[in-house]
Amino acid sequence: MKIGVLALQGDVAEHIKSLSDCGVDALAVKTKSEISAISALVIPGGESTTIAKLARSFDLFDQIKDRIKSGMPTYGSCAGMILLSDVIEDAIDGQESFGGIDMVVRRNAFGRQVDSFETDLKFKGITEPAVRAVFIRAPWVESVGAGVEILAEITNSSGIKHPVAVRQGNLLATSFHPELTGDNRVHRFFVENICRQLANI
Ligand code: GLN
Repeated sequence: MKIGVLALQGDVAEHIKSLSDCGVDALAVKTKSEISAISALVIPGGESTTIAKLARSFDLFDQIKDRIKSGMPTYGSCAGMILLSDVIEDAIDGQESFGGIDMVVRRNAFGRQVDSFETDLKFKGITEPAVRAVFIRAPWVESVGAGVEILAEITNSSGIKHPVAVRQGNLLATSFHPELTGDNRVHRFFVENICRQLANI
């Protein structure tokens, strides 16, 4: 099974390493033919506005959107979560997303003074120990539709809980960056519970 990491901008190499450690064939993709040849996709952390604009300029946007719509397993971390969200709060003017997950995501939600931090999270479907989660100018999820499963949540400084890991069918998104910690259990969750189950291999 070939899993592509969208290589327009962001931390592509780290995702390739995490996926390879899970025993799959992982490669950077940035052309139409490369995207046609993969069975699953990872959208890395980086800057969602830049990734969306580059996908438009390289004429990949509609292809990716269509493949996601037709069921290609896709995992987005941080900027990737924003790109998988049906609705973006605090988007820049005209910012597009591929969509697919019925949720509202707020960009840069944790605010400037705490742009980056780390914490341990309980992640549904991943057994102990807790997952170390790195948040870098991260989004959080404001609300989800009925078909979205919440896998991890965080309590913000006002005591309000926000989802930071969600799944809807073949789509997985996290606000944080498991590709940066050397713990590949979130990637393994994607590979084993979504990609392999679908491909039946
Ligand atoms: N704030 C970034 C955005 O809007 C995401 C940051 C990240 O991926 N680390 O895309």
